Amino acid sequence: MSDPVERNSYSMSRDSFDPSPEKIDIILIGQAFLFRAQPRILSCEACNPDAEIPFDWILDQLTGRSGSTTDYVLQLPATCLQCGGEICEKTLVDDATRLDDSPLLDRTTELGRLLFSQDKDLLKVATERRRTGITFAGVIYAHQLRVTIGRSPEDLELIAKATDLEEWRNRVEFLPF
Ligand SMILES: [Zn+2]
Repeated sequence: MSDPVERNSYSMSRDSFDPSPEKIDIILIGQAFLFRAQPRILSCEACNPDAEIPFDWILDQLTGRSGSTTDYVLQLPATCLQCGGEICEKTLVDDATRLDDSPLLDRTTELGRLLFSQDKDLLKVATERRRTGITFAGVIYAHQLRVTIGRSPEDLELIAKATDLEEWRNRVEFLPF
């Protein structure tokens, strides 16, 4: 598979406000790549006052680039599943990878939050909980390769805006619908 990050790399001089001209790469984040970043967003600054990680830090990690030499442009915004808010480059988010699968599901359950994942292990944890009758907040699972990239961000937005968390209790839903 080719690199999903579309590179629009060109040199931009910062000499108008920085005495040492530095090369800044402008990286266009396409839908496919954005979808890989989406599971990292647990909540955003609009719905969680503790959200403190700028979304572009997550993009740095996923692209393996450094924020000091990279600016990102999102082809379209990511979606916060909790409030339906738009996530842009500088939006502060709560990063899901701080936690392992099981504590992560505990945390979203405790906070009453929906979790979007592309991680098979998390799917196993959810399935196991359902089998053993342990309550958890809903999980939306999208297989990385099978998901229809074009539709999923819209599906997520729809879920975030139209459904009630109660409906999601102990439920695992697969994308695309
Ligand atoms: Zn939010």
